[in-house]
Amino acid sequence: MATDNNANRCSMEVKQWSDYVLKLSVEDRERYISKLTSGEGTRSLPDPYCLASGWVDDPSLWPAITFTDIYFYLVDTPGQFTHDSLRAYKSLKAYDYVESGHVYPIFYNAIDDQSPYCFLKTKVIPSQRLRDKPHQPWVCVKKSEGTVFCAHCTCMAGLGEVCSHVAALLFKVDAAVRAGLTAKACTSEACKWNAAYRKELQPTPLCEVQHLFGRRRKANTPSVSGTGKAPLPDIETLKSLKSVCPNAVFF
Ligand SMILES: [Zn+2]
Repeated sequence: MATDNNANRCSMEVKQWSDYVLKLSVEDRERYISKLTSGEGTRSLPDPYCLASGWVDDPSLWPAITFTDIYFYLVDTPGQFTHDSLRAYKSLKAYDYVESGHVYPIFYNAIDDQSPYCFLKTKVIPSQRLRDKPHQPWVCVKKSEGTVFCAHCTCMAGLGEVCSHVAALLFKVDAAVRAGLTAKACTSEACKWNAAYRKELQPTPLCEVQHLFGRRRKANTPSVSGTGKAPLPDIETLKSLKSVCPNAVFF
């Protein structure tokens, strides 16, 4: 797996909480710590952002999380998800993250043999800003039942217990469960599926992809060179461009 600098630092310094958590406001930090308290308040689960070891890429280890588990967690947790929005869950941004390959491979951590809980973590590429740092959601799931105990994400909404990136992680697990990938003894196919996500997109000059739109064009479009020596388009073209985007730096 990719190196997790935050987790490596935690491991070396034997810290209980990651730098991410220590930099949160007092209120947000207390909320984060309280959500990881289990056993009727008697013990704390480890901070997933501080867990350096134990993460494995193997969907066959994932708990049997059903869509019902996901549904109840998302609806019962205060936030953006409602009965109505989940009835049309395929139109949700979270579902689109999975469909468009914005969800990185999911990693599983058993915490230890005695723990009734496990963690699943991933990274989700922001919807429009593909070069921005990915959000890092994790969910804590009861191993025996597949119910979601708590969750978190590094985005603003994820400071609570639910956001589109947490939901995207859960929807990706649901897709794997439905495809039977979590029940297979041979994990190579499941790991290949888990690893399938969209790599960072590279911007391409329009002139290089113009042939893709060629059939829809009625006439050739004159190209404009980006150099200072290039002649300006005629005044009518400039006026129509300005009417569309008056605040463009060009004007
Ligand atoms: Zn998020």
